[in-house]
Amino acid sequence: MASISKTIKKNKQSVAPLLEGSGMIEYAPAPESKSSAKINAKYDLFINGKFEKPLSKKYFDTINPATEEKISTVAEANAADVDRAVKAARNAYNKVWSKMPAKERAKYIYRIARMIQERARELAIIETMDGGKPIRESRDIDVPIAANHFFYYAGWADKLQYAYPNKKIESLGVAGQIIPWNFPLLMAAWKIAPALATGNTVVLKPAETTPLTALKLAEIIQESDLPPGVVNIITGAGATGAAIVNHPDINKIAFTGSTDVGKIIQRAVAGTNKKITLELGGKAANIIFDDAPLDQAVEGVINGIFFNQGHVCCAGSRLFVQESVYKIVLQKLKDRLATLIVGDPLDKNTDIGAINSKQQMDNIHKYLKIGEKEGAEMYQTQCILPKKGFFMPPTLFTNVAQSSRIAQEEIFGPVLTIQTFRTDDEVIEKANNTPYGLSAGVWTDKGSKIFNLTTKMRAGVVWANTYNKFDPTSPFGGYKESGFGREGGLHGLSAYLNV
Ligand code: ADP
Repeated sequence: MASISKTIKKNKQSVAPLLEGSGMIEYAPAPESKSSAKINAKYDLFINGKFEKPLSKKYFDTINPATEEKISTVAEANAADVDRAVKAARNAYNKVWSKMPAKERAKYIYRIARMIQERARELAIIETMDGGKPIRESRDIDVPIAANHFFYYAGWADKLQYAYPNKKIESLGVAGQIIPWNFPLLMAAWKIAPALATGNTVVLKPAETTPLTALKLAEIIQESDLPPGVVNIITGAGATGAAIVNHPDINKIAFTGSTDVGKIIQRAVAGTNKKITLELGGKAANIIFDDAPLDQAVEGVINGIFFNQGHVCCAGSRLFVQESVYKIVLQKLKDRLATLIVGDPLDKNTDIGAINSKQQMDNIHKYLKIGEKEGAEMYQTQCILPKKGFFMPPTLFTNVAQSSRIAQEEIFGPVLTIQTFRTDDEVIEKANNTPYGLSAGVWTDKGSKIFNLTTKMRAGVVWANTYNKFDPTSPFGGYKESGFGREGGLHGLSAYLNV
């Protein structure tokens, strides 16, 4: 069992060549070319259909977490900039968007979807450079699903009355939308597409560490000829987000991010007329029963927590294995972990890319220390990590107590805690014993067990014999401290309507 300090030291020295002596194939590098990604040296704020210099006169750098190199400089919006964006959104709402026939609105949303598809490669490369996730993920998951969200909600725009038969429905007005760094383009699509389909206008702020694909989306929106002011995209950090939340002329706040900030936002809008949806943290349980197809289950667990560096609020970060198959599952997990490639996110062979930021990397290391201090056993693969950038090997913790902080708190990194169980009731109780309730996974051969668990688990999404599958038609959202409101599907429409 490697101690943390030893592991960190080894990582720095890049010892133990990957897969050495294991008989596994080493792949030649297959990096995606950056040449098709056009990134400006500097980005202003996208307000009223134009890129405008910030009144704050301030800019900040966005870096590539895999190389620690600066990629671009982006504007930092202050309260006056937020006010400009909200005024543009209000004006566009009153004069154009709320009056436009729904089928015309749909055409713009379709056009944006098509343009995302046309520029998919560029968007995927920029997503990977700015956020650190493997190109395979951004190319095959983030970008296509983002386009699909626009397609899906374009379809609803002129059919809203069918969604709410015999009800009077109306749009809300201006939506303020604040998104995190784990799925920058996809979260922007999740927020913007339903807002536009229901006739609202938007002020959106991406996270400070991953602003670039949202700004590329602003370029697409500009080229799509969407009327100026219908979508405004402004960059900045927490203070910019707070200025959006506190702006008096915003009708709806949609937030995805940490539970701590979610609580601040909920307090800030209490007593106002603002409608709110919050999609917050998670500590999902992935449950393997002894009758499950074990290889498939292990692959699903790996997909659920290690691909994408565990930077997913619905990451299956707690594994519960039925006692009779614990040893074999643990061995299969370790064998599979040994084959995972950690490194250059732009390389198509890479399974685990860069941790999004130094701050996040430090936070994960803090939890590794807590885990060891709490008496859990840590296991890490001995892989070579790049010398620069924020990387860490996939990590397992066994001998984890139910009350342990690593089993209770969201780590948001490639760290999996493993516990055992004997009966259905025991695992349901253990899985539900967390302040969160966003998602869960069940692996079993028996349909009856799946139904028993899906009805008793306090989680917004329960995947059965699969994990981390997303579709624009399925609603997504949490219970308890994971937030409220649903995004996606028919449910996602009502978040932007008075019904
Ligand atoms: P994460 O831990 O995923 O980074 P955060 O909740 O810190 O989550 O950030 C999510 C988004 O919320 C980011 O766009 C961030 O800039 C924004 N944000 C941070 N603090 C505040 C705040 N007090 N009010 C509004 N938005 C905020």
